[in-house]
Amino acid sequence: MLYLSTRGYAEQKRFCDILLEGLAPDGGLYLPVEYPQIDDAKLTQLRNTLASQGYAALAFEILSLYIDDIPAADLKAICAKTYTREVFGTDAIVPVRQLDGNLLIEALSNGPTLAFKDMAMQLLGNLFEYELARRGEALNILGATSGDTGSAAEYAMRGKKGVRVFMTSPHGRMSPFQQAQMFSLQDENIHNIAIEGVFDDCQDIVKAVSNDHAFKAKYKIGTVNSINWARLLAQVVYYFAGYLQATKSNAEKVSFTVPSGNFGNICAGHVARQMGLPIAKLVVATNENDVLDEFFRTGIYQVRGAANTYETSSPSMDISKASNFERFVFDLVGRDGARTRQLFAEGVAKQGKFDLSADPAFKDAAAKYGFASGKSTHADRLATIKDTFERFGQMIDTHTADGVKVAREHLGAEPMIVLETALPIKFAATIEEALHRQPDRPAKFNGIEDLPKRVVVMAADVEQVKALIADTCKV
Ligand SMILES: *Cc1c(COP(=O)(O)O)cnc(C)c1O
Repeated sequence: MLYLSTRGYAEQKRFCDILLEGLAPDGGLYLPVEYPQIDDAKLTQLRNTLASQGYAALAFEILSLYIDDIPAADLKAICAKTYTREVFGTDAIVPVRQLDGNLLIEALSNGPTLAFKDMAMQLLGNLFEYELARRGEALNILGATSGDTGSAAEYAMRGKKGVRVFMTSPHGRMSPFQQAQMFSLQDENIHNIAIEGVFDDCQDIVKAVSNDHAFKAKYKIGTVNSINWARLLAQVVYYFAGYLQATKSNAEKVSFTVPSGNFGNICAGHVARQMGLPIAKLVVATNENDVLDEFFRTGIYQVRGAANTYETSSPSMDISKASNFERFVFDLVGRDGARTRQLFAEGVAKQGKFDLSADPAFKDAAAKYGFASGKSTHADRLATIKDTFERFGQMIDTHTADGVKVAREHLGAEPMIVLETALPIKFAATIEEALHRQPDRPAKFNGIEDLPKRVVVMAADVEQVKALIADTCKV
């Protein structure tokens, strides 16, 4: 399998070459040259695999359609080591439960950091360790986080050979629970840097370091952001697992509703659907930051500036620009790299928007690709959390609540699966506002706030961060 760039760059690459890379050299995102097709017989085989051997075996089957530069036995071992009951809490890994009639919930958030990013990041950690060892290389991951992504990356990379993580976060601005999750890690390869500033200061530092090409090369600086194809690929697996749990025969269809920010999660659903998984609709649920809902309603994609990016109670969806959206648009415009380059490198980058409303391709988003969308606000979130708890005895987090709210607007005859992207304990303040009680806390997190913390506090100064990286790499 070869991978191409959405902006038409000539050279195609194999999986392990793009694994450790970010964007393609022309600024595009990587996609496979074609989506492997799952016919009825193959889907039946996958159904049997999940039933008899479990999620890790299913993951191996799907991944091996896209990865041909890791020996099968090694890839199988990587999947087996990643998707365990020990790490994800259940044998099903992503159990599907009923909420209300044919409205179902697929739990993706029982990993180490209680958010769906663990599903992909845990695999990435093992793939990185494997590939770096094979090449005899090392990697220093530098990141900025306001909570979720940073902790998922740290829990994926902790103790991994050949990898160090330097994670900046705004000092004193994460919730006590989030700080405890990250700062209690005592692994030597994990470095928490609390920056005296806001999240944007952290991001600026990461950008400045990455733009110092000599430093970046000397210290092998890398990232783990959501445009990484391996992360997306790992997510394709749970669309299959959700479908197979919700159906008894391949003649049945299901729909998915996905709480969305950077379009990474639902883009994996798009890939699964393109492979032939019988998905009726893919419903994008946004919060008040509704650039994606606006696009699917109108055909206009208009990114927002910082002043119009709202801080909401589903903060992991607070985006102004959806970094994975280009992958879907590339397919939508008939995989035309020049056109995609024009839409993103000219339209989005220079004018902050593009307009496909008059383009015949826009109709395909719904008609051919099954997309629909909706939006949920703080008031909707509170009402949905309350209703779900009172009528069904189920406590859901704020992001999942956005999904449930929007899913109810798109119910059809087929099962509708809402992806549960986090657990309520991570967003305690909003749960209290909705339910007037504390959220349930999984036992393994009792007392986490009292554990010793490993973090250095630093001014928002690029040179100090560079000095820390250089010092750490010396020893
Ligand atoms: C990251 C995240 C999302 C958004 O996922 P995207 O892939 O960016 O669309 C939704 N919910 C939670 C809890 C998240 O952490």
